[in-house]
Amino acid sequence: MKDFAEVSENYTLAEAIKEAQRCLNCKAPGCKKGCPISNDIPDWIYELSHGNFGNAIHIIHTKSNLPAICGRVCGHERQCQGSCVLGKKGEPVQIGKLERFLADFDAEAGWSHTNIPQKTRGKVAVIGSGPAGLTIAGDLARKGFAVDIFEMEKEPGGMLKFGIPEYRLPKEVVTREIKKIEGLGVNIHLNTTIGKDFTVDDLFSQGFDAIFMGTGTGVPKRLDIPGIDHFGVRQGIRFLRRVGLYESGYIKRREVVISEGDKVAVIGCGNTAMDAARTALRMGASEVTVIYHRGIENMAALKAEYDEAVAEGVKFLWNSSVIDIKGKNDVKLDKITIKTGDETFEKPVEHLILAVGSVPASRIVSSTEGIEVDEKGYVLTREFPYGMTTRKGVFAGGDVARRSATVVHAMADAKKVAEGIAQYIDAIKLMDSISQTPTTEELTN
Ligand code: SF4
Repeated sequence: MKDFAEVSENYTLAEAIKEAQRCLNCKAPGCKKGCPISNDIPDWIYELSHGNFGNAIHIIHTKSNLPAICGRVCGHERQCQGSCVLGKKGEPVQIGKLERFLADFDAEAGWSHTNIPQKTRGKVAVIGSGPAGLTIAGDLARKGFAVDIFEMEKEPGGMLKFGIPEYRLPKEVVTREIKKIEGLGVNIHLNTTIGKDFTVDDLFSQGFDAIFMGTGTGVPKRLDIPGIDHFGVRQGIRFLRRVGLYESGYIKRREVVISEGDKVAVIGCGNTAMDAARTALRMGASEVTVIYHRGIENMAALKAEYDEAVAEGVKFLWNSSVIDIKGKNDVKLDKITIKTGDETFEKPVEHLILAVGSVPASRIVSSTEGIEVDEKGYVLTREFPYGMTTRKGVFAGGDVARRSATVVHAMADAKKVAEGIAQYIDAIKLMDSISQTPTTEELTN
């Protein structure tokens, strides 16, 4: 059985420099254009190729607060590497692995690159400590804002900690990146649910100038299939969360439910489906089959994730749909009925995992006046100041406002929202100071 050890291996120092030396340092670099946060890739690769690691990591930090995470879980094949000129005729520069090498090298060296600015520009509350919340917190702290993060879980990290499996993103790496953000002077409050323990209005009463909602999409979508409410049907993001909690020692093995030798089917073909399928194998499943209603050319998962899943033994059924689910007992399923073209057949499985997307939870919106959402529950935001909701001073970004996307897309959006929050707070402080300036009449009386 496969274990949860990290799958991809890091470069040695010599390998990293050799790989960096392949870079052509293009004048119009496709890699930078392909990166959602416009990381200055050629510049840091150039420094790395000359052994200037400190300069290289400094350049990365100007754009990214989470390089050790991006280096591991970004969709490089569709972004920077997919746009690298060397990929047209051969192998693109392995930008993701180089970024990971530098971030890990930096962590081992224990360098500190940041002069922490005074927190004089205002106070910001950040709800959620996933990729969007951490990015906002890091960017605003560097700009001179006092930032407090409110996280409902026992540990910070959101889906980075309990949504992405350990073999792709070790929790220790996430913890390390969060420590760096705390090192910028950011306070993190755990076990605090906004909408239950506090409301948005309470936060304003506590003196926060702006509030950011980076709460992601925590409510999984369901499918309308007979038998879908059986206990043996579980949601992919909840299954991954349970395994993450078990791996961190918060729950017992039996609470993960999938046991040694079980047969598992997964509906969906995005990265969550791949994560759920490969995690089910690691929990001892004897057979895992991914069922997708379209063809391989339409799968949302990265090719690299799919290839790994195939290599580990996950089976795929394309252009197929589950049309019926039958239970064996209260806990496990007996079989599912699958339709492929004009044919239908039954397949014995003990568990069915749904990985067909998720939408935002409504807890904050329903406990706060004035935050409007669209028909699917995504928070409506403005272009100026970027990311502000229909409630003044409340901002939203990442998946909760922009549809579910990747870690780096949530980060890219959050960086723009950080700019919007800074502009908003600077403007209200300026207006306050103007309104408090005595008029000529007041001064002369
Ligand atoms: Fe280097 Fe490729 Fe970027 Fe050109 S496109 S600068 S070769 S990484």
